[in-house]
Amino acid sequence: MSELIDLNLPELRAGLDSKKFSSVELTKSYLDRIESLSDLNAFISVDRDGALAQAQASDQILKQKGAASKEECLLGIPIAVKDIISVKGLRNTCGSKILGNYIAPYDATVTIKLKNAGAVISGKTNMDEFAMGSSNETSAFGAVLNPWDRKRVPGGSSGGSVVAVSARLSAASLGTDTGGSIRQPAALTSTVGIKPTYGRVSRYGVVAYASSLDQVGPFTHTVRDAAIMTRVLSGRDPLDSTSFDIAVPDFEKGLGTSIKGLKLGVPKQYFIAGLNKEVESSIKAAMEQYAKLGAELVDIDLPHTEAAVAAYYIVAPAEASSNLARFDGVRYGYRAEKCADLKEMYCRTRGEGFGPEVKRRIMMGTYVLSSGYYDAYYARAQKIRTLIAQDFKSAFADKCDLVICPTSPTTAFSIGEKISDPLSMYLNDVFTIPVNLAGLPAMSLPCGFDSKGLPIGVQLIAKAFDEETIFKAAYAFEQSTDWHKRTPQL
Ligand code: GLN
Repeated sequence: MSELIDLNLPELRAGLDSKKFSSVELTKSYLDRIESLSDLNAFISVDRDGALAQAQASDQILKQKGAASKEECLLGIPIAVKDIISVKGLRNTCGSKILGNYIAPYDATVTIKLKNAGAVISGKTNMDEFAMGSSNETSAFGAVLNPWDRKRVPGGSSGGSVVAVSARLSAASLGTDTGGSIRQPAALTSTVGIKPTYGRVSRYGVVAYASSLDQVGPFTHTVRDAAIMTRVLSGRDPLDSTSFDIAVPDFEKGLGTSIKGLKLGVPKQYFIAGLNKEVESSIKAAMEQYAKLGAELVDIDLPHTEAAVAAYYIVAPAEASSNLARFDGVRYGYRAEKCADLKEMYCRTRGEGFGPEVKRRIMMGTYVLSSGYYDAYYARAQKIRTLIAQDFKSAFADKCDLVICPTSPTTAFSIGEKISDPLSMYLNDVFTIPVNLAGLPAMSLPCGFDSKGLPIGVQLIAKAFDEETIFKAAYAFEQSTDWHKRTPQL
């Protein structure tokens, strides 16, 4: 393994600023590795020429300025972007045939933020079709392989973005998390992944799956890198009315401060029968580690947890069925050929363009929103959502600063194992979904390996807009353990 690709963001910054290596050299080492590990199928599009031109421009700026300012903290550093986030001039497929030939005509706000920070965008990463899935097997561009064991899934839906980081094809990457798609793949590949508070990061230019749940966040090797990336991405955006007008703190500030007396809530509803024993013992060991660091573990009750998956699989498909109505073959993307009339064109375009999981969600969503069933399903699911949010609210008000729990009930499962059983696939998100329903921030970070050598992640959940406490606690754990230092043998 060449050494450039092993460096974290501050090390890359220091190396580039001191001219130890150039952005062109760095970008080339990543691009070459993307090519030599193309069997992992992490990227849908690699922008080799564009990335090298951006790298050259960065080197030019560094030559003139000497070192990058804090605002340009990513200057010359390659970042990979999930193929649901618009990058002007690049394909934005959402892992779907229906957008297979669609080129984004503008940048998403998060893309502009990356570019303003000086990042080199290396390409667009593979994903479950329209971010629907937990295994990255629903992509029209094929499954992504887990670098820890190529026969297993990397998790989803941000499978390509997580593998880009885990296999060291990129220093960091962007994913989206609607029901766990940043945290679950992070757990399955030993990377750090954070879903910021709903409203912390703009969704403008990010193709909508379930608008009231979707949030963009980073994958990184370390907690500090995640803090750096989250600061770059965050902030109110006039183009997204759900983005919140609240100051963006320097998330690095609290790193390294004591967590003595920090109260970690342990919800009994997250230690259930379906939780794999080895995962459970790793999470318990992480709790003991926190106790050693001076944190206080307190039992908490989140009584409506059990209903979260059911509520999510009503709310998310309902929103998806509306959001995906725009893909009709008229304005952009795939269009079925030789149709007799408009109706046939709509039907065949959508029939041929969408894969089976997307169709299942559109049908479920249309059904739960139909006038005869709206009250029985959609309205009830929204009530459950409120109860789940209240559960967290009272835990944070009375008992704890953070919630600690597993990210995923199992380690990485085999490719093909769950794809024909949607329910068992949906249950994979049992520990991540409540966070999206409540709009809270949460991180998964490496906390161990099972007896097969597969990674395990622990999840930290905070109250809305309290990412700082997550970063502080995650950093304390990371610095006192070695889990994040292991890398897959490739
Ligand atoms: N696996 C969940 C789903 O399929 C969550 C996906 C996501 O967070 N985008 O909806």
